[in-house]
Amino acid sequence: MLPIPVTVLTGYLGAGKTTLLNRILTQEHGKRYAVIVNEFGEVGIDNELVAHSDEEIFEMNNGCICCTVRGDLIRMVGGLIRRKGHLDGVIIETTGLADPAPVIQTFFLDQETKERTALDAVVAVVDARHFQGQLERSAEAREQVIFADAVILNKCDLVDEAGLEEARARIRELNPSVEIIPATRCDVPLEKVMGRRSFDLLRLLDIEPELLDEGAHEHSHGHVQSVSLVSDKAVDFERFKKWIGEFLNAQGQNVYRCKGILHLPGERQRLVFQGVHMLMEMGFGMPWKEGEPRSSKAVFIGRGLDSLALQIAFRDCLVTS
Ligand SMILES: [Zn+2]
Ligand SMILES: [Zn+2]
Repeated sequence: MLPIPVTVLTGYLGAGKTTLLNRILTQEHGKRYAVIVNEFGEVGIDNELVAHSDEEIFEMNNGCICCTVRGDLIRMVGGLIRRKGHLDGVIIETTGLADPAPVIQTFFLDQETKERTALDAVVAVVDARHFQGQLERSAEAREQVIFADAVILNKCDLVDEAGLEEARARIRELNPSVEIIPATRCDVPLEKVMGRRSFDLLRLLDIEPELLDEGAHEHSHGHVQSVSLVSDKAVDFERFKKWIGEFLNAQGQNVYRCKGILHLPGERQRLVFQGVHMLMEMGFGMPWKEGEPRSSKAVFIGRGLDSLALQIAFRDCLVTS
């Protein structure tokens, strides 16, 4: 039996991994992929942001894929391998904070996983606008580019020519051989991401000789926190918009990522918001299904976040009557 190709999708918080995933899943490619998403923060949101097609989405929300849930990853991949029916590939979307090394390691240390899967590529999505700042504060942002076979330089529309050149130069510095694919809203051809066959273990062992040593991996995401807000109530959109705007204006510097799904009174679609620092987008997402319980939820990831203040502010936006 041919090994199942595995694509690892990485990239710092807010770079556009979910957008890329949606592109892949909604294209007419006639392929069957299974997707494993891992999120930082206890409330699963990505799963509701990903367009549902024939693909199956598996969520891992009980920790960060690179630190705590590798056993889960092995079990999940194992389940996919063993079941019947053809599968063209597995896509693993890591958290924005994940160090890709231990994820890669997983595919070489477990015997069954090693025999039955083949890493196809590590694809990193980079936010052209915020990359520089992310590199300064995060070793993971750096590692993600170092370990990538391809970098999708996303949000090119948000920077000027000089900024773009600078981002390219920084990527080249970290990873001279990587293919850089410029994009806006991750509008890249599918073949740039899937079926690349560009994973190169020898290159990685050159950079990190300890890559396959179990236990060599050690780090923590201690300085980064996440605050989750959930309610089964609807949200007053005007109040919410006003609050989130003011909040990001004042504290956006500390907000690496925020995203949420809101239930608005009488609205059949989900209202989705996504932000990185002060930048923020809102729009309607997938409709609620008939009889599906509606809820409003949000996750803020950053540093120095006042969890209680966020809880209170969010509660003040809820429709109570
Ligand atoms: Zn981790
Ligand atoms: Zn880790």
